[in-house]
Amino acid sequence: MSGKVYLVGGGPGKPDLITVRGLNILKEADVVIYDYLVDRQLLEYTKEGAELVCCDRLAKKGRYSDGFSIHQEKITNLVIEKAKKDKKVIRLKNGDPSIFSRCSQELEALAKARIEFEIVPGVTAASATSCLTGIPLTDREYATDCVFVTGHEAPSKDESMLDWNAIAKNGTVVLYMAVENLADIVKKLVEAGKDKNTPVAMVQNASRLNQRVLRGTLKDIAVKAKDEKIKPPAIIIIGKVAKLEKNFNWLRRNKRVLFTGLSEERFFIRGTYFHLPLIKICLLENYDKFDDYLRSIRKFDWVVFASRYGVEYFFKRLNAIGNDARALTHIKIAAVGNSTKNRLLDFGIHADLVPWEESSRGLLKRFKKENINGKRIFMPRSDLSDKGLKNGLKRLGAVVISSYAYRNVMPSDLPDLELSNFDEIMFTSPSTVRNFKKRYGKIPKGITRRFIGDVTLAEAKKCRLLD
Ligand code: SAH
Repeated sequence: MSGKVYLVGGGPGKPDLITVRGLNILKEADVVIYDYLVDRQLLEYTKEGAELVCCDRLAKKGRYSDGFSIHQEKITNLVIEKAKKDKKVIRLKNGDPSIFSRCSQELEALAKARIEFEIVPGVTAASATSCLTGIPLTDREYATDCVFVTGHEAPSKDESMLDWNAIAKNGTVVLYMAVENLADIVKKLVEAGKDKNTPVAMVQNASRLNQRVLRGTLKDIAVKAKDEKIKPPAIIIIGKVAKLEKNFNWLRRNKRVLFTGLSEERFFIRGTYFHLPLIKICLLENYDKFDDYLRSIRKFDWVVFASRYGVEYFFKRLNAIGNDARALTHIKIAAVGNSTKNRLLDFGIHADLVPWEESSRGLLKRFKKENINGKRIFMPRSDLSDKGLKNGLKRLGAVVISSYAYRNVMPSDLPDLELSNFDEIMFTSPSTVRNFKKRYGKIPKGITRRFIGDVTLAEAKKCRLLD
């Protein structure tokens, strides 16, 4: 019996543009073999211990626009090898698996090896580009048809299959993989009768944090793209619909906020939030010490949770040592704010104390009203959290034991950003400030900075991010 392979479209880049079905499969997979264009944030959803293999690692030139036979073989061989070991394999592709993605080569190999497969659709780059720039691909007035064209045919072909005369007749022409050959393609379209003044929109990194839009006409787009140094991946939309970008590009119209924390996106607030978590929560290498405290948790009078991750890892470890929430029966529980309080509810715990002001300062103010003199307090914390809360509780006479429950690290692979694309940057903790400084240096003038909590603001002053 061999495992099963899912070919899944991961969408154009923005991690939440994968389908619910694709995500559910991703969460269960043992082996994830993913395209180089797949956003690394998506991989955060994989289960612990899943094997993650980037196609770029298998074949340095495994990109769609490169010659592919050898590289493709390496990828399919690995997929088959893993499936034969009865692994749950997901071949995570960029965009939609059925569009310019060598889907049939992979399927042929799987069919030959008699391995069961399923295919899950994804949002193709053309649709994503269209929606994220406000350019409809078809329009009652401007275009009743639309064609997707590759700007880069397989180098092994002797003769092109592209019929530019037929292509030019379409209301909307969408080019994939065409940055390199744009000048040549434009020439062919004009020769085939497309008006030189036809509007064109060229969109690099559609849906990602660094999306760029360049507008022009067939006459000037190739030169403009060179001047502006537009690079792949990019989609080029040619047709009257492209001029609608001017009015409907909602990303340009809305306030654009770069959000550096881990919280879930909230959708119905004003502005568009771009999530770029500058921190990542990880397991500790060793939980011996933490587990020892949990084994004697009954000796404490209070457990103080300063973050929802403290809650999560506390209960993970409590379960790991064979215990559960009942161990806390006679212990009082404090939470720093609402999201921590809500996370506690997931484990059946209703917090006894939640300050009105959601911060360490608020917690201390609230604790002043309790008599904690001589009380024993346990605090699960991150390896980076500041000592203010612990010291404050000690000053109120408590005996405070804090122990690392998780690590807070800087994610690798943070993308290059054009910061001037944002109207506002929002920092949610001192570590987001420090990591921003490390990766991006300064904030250009004219961008609003917002900070959650005084400690975060103080860190920004220290890192000179307010200058
Ligand atoms: N299967 C993919 C296409 C893969 S071919 C899909 O359905 O979208 C790779 C090409 O897709 C790139 O050269 C580029 O033209 C386009 N592309 C992929 N992601 C893109 C993105 N985020 N922004 C713009 N173009 C993208």
